Amino acid sequence: MNISDEIKSRVDIVDFISDTVNLRKAGKNYTGFCPFHQNTKTPSFIVFPDTQTWRCFGACADGGDIFSFVMKREGCDFKEALQLLARRAGVTLQEAEPQATQKDQQHQKLLELQSAAAAYFHHLLMASPAGAQARDYLAKRELTAETIIAFQLGYALDEWEALKSHFVERGYSPELLVAAGLIVERDDGSPGYDRFRNRLMIPIRDTQGRVIGFGARALQAEQVPKYLNSPQTALFDKSATLYGLDMARRHIRAADQVVIVEGYMDVIQAHQRGAKNVVAQMGTALTEQQLRLLKRTTGHFVLALDADTAGQAATLRGLNVAREALEREQVPVITARGLIRYENRLNADIRIAILPEAKDPDDILREGLAGWQKIIENAAPVIDFYFQAVTANLDLNSAKGKSIAVQELIPVLRDIGNSVEQEHYIQKLARLIHVDERTLMAELKRGPKPRPASRQQPQPARPDAPPAKKDLGLPKISPNTDVGLEEYCLSLILAYPSALAVANDLLEQQSISGLLVNDFKGGENRAIFKSLQLWTASETPEIELLKEMVDDVLRSRLAALAALWPHRSSIPTEKISRDLCKTILKLKLRHIIEQIKELDFLQREAIENQDLKAVRQYMELVEMWKQQRKLLEQMSDALTLVGRRRAEVNM
Ligand SMILES: [Zn+2]
Repeated sequence: MNISDEIKSRVDIVDFISDTVNLRKAGKNYTGFCPFHQNTKTPSFIVFPDTQTWRCFGACADGGDIFSFVMKREGCDFKEALQLLARRAGVTLQEAEPQATQKDQQHQKLLELQSAAAAYFHHLLMASPAGAQARDYLAKRELTAETIIAFQLGYALDEWEALKSHFVERGYSPELLVAAGLIVERDDGSPGYDRFRNRLMIPIRDTQGRVIGFGARALQAEQVPKYLNSPQTALFDKSATLYGLDMARRHIRAADQVVIVEGYMDVIQAHQRGAKNVVAQMGTALTEQQLRLLKRTTGHFVLALDADTAGQAATLRGLNVAREALEREQVPVITARGLIRYENRLNADIRIAILPEAKDPDDILREGLAGWQKIIENAAPVIDFYFQAVTANLDLNSAKGKSIAVQELIPVLRDIGNSVEQEHYIQKLARLIHVDERTLMAELKRGPKPRPASRQQPQPARPDAPPAKKDLGLPKISPNTDVGLEEYCLSLILAYPSALAVANDLLEQQSISGLLVNDFKGGENRAIFKSLQLWTASETPEIELLKEMVDDVLRSRLAALAALWPHRSSIPTEKISRDLCKTILKLKLRHIIEQIKELDFLQREAIENQDLKAVRQYMELVEMWKQQRKLLEQMSDALTLVGRRRAEVNM
């Protein structure tokens, strides 16, 4: 039994979910309100003890095993879900490779040291006579003792070797202190003196609340810089960290919105004054990694910028980089024929709140939470901000100015999900530069559309593949043997990476979405598929590359999947793609059939409770899924027919 199976056998999904969701027994299953979307009227969330799975029939339209539940709830990856559930199950996770263990030991030591350093600084702030100046500063900023303790603020003594000797005496090596960024390295590489002196110390934590570095604020006017951060270390990557996220995550999820401010103190003060969905970037422009990190929890971002920052070109550039890097989502769009087509949309709503001149967030919050909330509510879509920023320094009457405005703004407009909104901005731009709307629309349609990883053009068949022989069929594993359908599908992609794009295109031609993460139920399989999506889009999808992309806890599973197809490249690509396409359809159909069955059950229950509104809702859902099922079955039949005809021709 592998580790995730062992965990599944030890942790009952009903027990686990009912820790956080109020579940009611209904027949042999359990229902409740979905923890992932707003719903208070009809319970749309259901847990099935027989299969140890869950599903939301409401807005989420998602479901899966205990791992996918944890990944969704915590916004974490598979490895983190595994760690959380292993703790719960009392299972010890073993490291796959000794090398990793050694790296982990160093990692662990650094974490220990940072945590000890935070406690050391905190003690100096709270209890040492020398900390008086820092305490005065905090009193002036009106921070309460409760806040100071919650954020574990501290003080670094105004001495060259206070921290160094404190920790060396306690058995920490000077080299480790350097590696943690707590003491500086001399030019000759030997350990030097304390990095932080006479500063207010602000521990920076990762999403799990572990101290990974420090921000340090000067306490005297002549000290430079005003803020000094820990350097880049094995633990601390400034561009991938957001200050306060460990405290704010819960509140960000509840509000489905994150407010990003500029400074550490802004975050601390905001939390104290009740605005708890607030985090800070780390002194640089917002990075792609930071947005991705937040993206796990919410798609709604508000950047609260002071008037100066908002005006800087760097802010705009940073935002642009981040916007371009953000993942696109496949959203269903109803076509004129009444079918569903999937389009790529920027899966995030970024807004800018510009703070009143010469005020920082605390000044505003001091006057009450309502004023702050109003500013956040009135945040303008980032597009408006772009318009203003791009056009501010252009002469829009000149041909050059017009052309620059079009060049800069059209890519931004292309990302707008809502076509009404898109038109609105096209009109706005047209008015602004006195160019015909239709010209701009044509420009917009002409440009490159972003394509997600799995939608790449099909690769030509490998030239080195041996000619297909007639007697070569698919290997003897099929979806009907003990290899699950999901695993079969993954192994097929693993052996024939170029088949995924072809299969997806085949599906899309029939207005059926290509293979999606949600088509997999198991958390492990979801995680592997995510890596496969990226991998298949890479220029040379070699297995070594994939091994690097996959989380180490998933490597053995990956190896098992790869072993299902020991002799690849001997089967015609076309046959493989068709088989993959059929497998994807089977996966989707299985999903739909399950949902219809489950809805049936919910419907019966609603009838018993005489909840007519719910009955109607469930009926509508059943109808919708039945239509989808028909569409998928038709395509599946058509594919089988094509396959049979070809086989006959070849005989
Ligand atoms: Zn839901």
